[in-house]
Amino acid sequence: MIRLKTQEEIELIRESALLVGKTLAEVGKYVKPGVTTAFLDKIGEQFIRDNGATPVFKGYNGFPAALCISVNDVVVHGIPSEDMFIKDGDIVSIDCGTNLNGYIGDSAYTFTCGEVRPEVLRLLKVTKEALYLGLEKCVEGNRVGDIGHAIQTHCEKNGYTVVRELCGHGVGLKLHEDPSVSNFGVKGTGPLLKEGMVIAVEPMINLGSKNVKFSQEDGWTCRTKDGKPSAHFEHDVAIGKHAPDILSSFEPIENIK
Ligand code: MG
Ligand code: MG
Repeated sequence: MIRLKTQEEIELIRESALLVGKTLAEVGKYVKPGVTTAFLDKIGEQFIRDNGATPVFKGYNGFPAALCISVNDVVVHGIPSEDMFIKDGDIVSIDCGTNLNGYIGDSAYTFTCGEVRPEVLRLLKVTKEALYLGLEKCVEGNRVGDIGHAIQTHCEKNGYTVVRELCGHGVGLKLHEDPSVSNFGVKGTGPLLKEGMVIAVEPMINLGSKNVKFSQEDGWTCRTKDGKPSAHFEHDVAIGKHAPDILSSFEPIENIK
């Protein structure tokens, strides 16, 4: 069931989503060679708690950490580890969710560490562009399939592939609400977008083939099958009557570079 939000609720979700952006910016300052992903997780969790919120990922279906930190060929749901050291040339996708006053924000950004290969930088650029093209469709009267179609078209046109197994979702009162928002699709299909809907749009785009595998050992880590890098960017957005209202922000993150 799709739960429509009041304008008051949307403002509270925005506060939570903006805290996620600030958390990502804070953690992003520490994305450097030699740092462990467990250390980044610790910084993020402390920042969230210092700002009066709780990390919603921690304990979600048993997930053991505050942040999902996914390096290079890890698409999403990487578990922070004391043994995982960031290296020069890595890309580091950090996904964060907060509960602030009962409202959920959920946003992700793929950071670069040092000198990243130009072909990988281009993957990041195109994935971020695809996110915004999807967000542009978040207007009353469009359908969920229009979002996926816009993302898929842009990524495939540039030679990349769209992960099929994972998708965006409704968000706000719970971390994952209806509807599911695929990053591929057919125009004019799927649930109708209405003012008051709040969704997370989150393209997961691969440099190589679209196929992924989930770790048998930890039950979480999702990697590309061919070992090539994958990018992930995510924003929360309220469907507007005439324009999308993007609730999360990459602004503080992009200011740190
Ligand atoms: Mg997320
Ligand atoms: Mg999400």
